[in-house]
Amino acid sequence: MNAELITIGDELLIGQTVDTNGSWIGEQLNLLGIKVTQISSIRDDREHIISSLNVALNRSDLVILTGGLGPTNDDITKTTLCEFFESQLVLNKQVLQKIETYFKSSGLKMLKVNSDQAMLPNNCEPLRNDRGTACGMWFKKNGVDFISLPGVPYEMKGIFLEEILPKLKTQYLTSNVVNKTIKTQGIGESFLAEIIKDWETELVSSGLKLAYLPSPGIVKLRITGFGNNENELAKKIDGFINQLKSLIPNYIFGYEKDRLEEVVGELLKSSGSSLSLAESCTGGNIAHLITAISGSSAYYKGSVVAYSNEIKEQLLNVSPNLIKNNGAVSKEVVEQMAIGVKNAFNTDYAIATSGIAGPSGGTKQKPVGTVWIAVANKEKVISKKFSLGNNRERNILISSLSALNMLRLMLLN
Ligand code: AMP
Ligand code: MG
Repeated sequence: MNAELITIGDELLIGQTVDTNGSWIGEQLNLLGIKVTQISSIRDDREHIISSLNVALNRSDLVILTGGLGPTNDDITKTTLCEFFESQLVLNKQVLQKIETYFKSSGLKMLKVNSDQAMLPNNCEPLRNDRGTACGMWFKKNGVDFISLPGVPYEMKGIFLEEILPKLKTQYLTSNVVNKTIKTQGIGESFLAEIIKDWETELVSSGLKLAYLPSPGIVKLRITGFGNNENELAKKIDGFINQLKSLIPNYIFGYEKDRLEEVVGELLKSSGSSLSLAESCTGGNIAHLITAISGSSAYYKGSVVAYSNEIKEQLLNVSPNLIKNNGAVSKEVVEQMAIGVKNAFNTDYAIATSGIAGPSGGTKQKPVGTVWIAVANKEKVISKKFSLGNNRERNILISSLSALNMLRLMLLN
């Protein structure tokens, strides 16, 4: 059982739109245990679409296409599918009625290009679109299923979940698939791979699969198992996760959709602790991450974005001499910042960051990417130096996540 995805749209090839449809459908099919062997993005071009359909016909069992179903002239998927499946366009009265109702209720004037969307190939099964005017279409040719969906992600997802998923489940579900994702912070993928080498070998030889999914500051590990008994598979995977926990206890912060800021928030909440921040190089990004979590007012008191030395001195009580002698990006200053904000805001915990986010501003002793982070509680202050890269956005993100993980570890100990 091979599935392939074809995402259609000129915008995907010129970098204007990122193909999120492909990755989303890929994830959905994987969860069903349907193997996706290829995702291709192609232009809104008749010949290109036809040749891709021909290739797919010869190598896949299920082909899902998105895009090119809009009412405008640049969208040609429907007419091209008609040609490929040797169909005639016929008026679908039900769909026309839906489109008319949609335009009436939104007070818009309906144009011919809109009513044309009710013209559907006579040999496809129309798939209801409750979020827009372009129907999905399900064709069959030589035993291969072809499904065409609109490009708009919101509409595509609606049709997929409501119209396609239930059918795929009954038609294709042969074995179960269990996926579990472990989330780590504070270690790069190659170091991680080195530490867990033997564990990985054992996992793979037991028939499970392991994927490393790195993103700035976070590496996700996804374990996948296929088999007939879902419970047994889950148990087997949990066994490996337990072993992993003892191998890398400080790096694992969560599972599946857990977010680090959420995990830290839970720890603060359950211990009845409060938090304040003094952010220099992260410029308020940690505060942003924390306040994006609903209920964060239970533990987060506030921050100082202490960008200038003047603010570090006046609001955080950092001594001018300390800055003069060590520089603002230093262990001494970042520790003073953490203690200063903790005292000023009267909180149980505090985080401080100070670094050179780049791409300019580095020196020989302190190159771009040098970041000091401190976390403090009532008893102690711990600080750590990071040597990151030249990309400002990445540096801010990695610093923010590293700071949150340092706080997490302090809260756990
Ligand atoms: P279309 O069905 O071709 O009219 O697509 C309409 C809009 O959906 C496009 O302008 C894009 O913004 C979006 N879109 C199309 N294909 C994709 C895709 N593969 N991933 C994410 N967005 C897409
Ligand atoms: Mg398009």
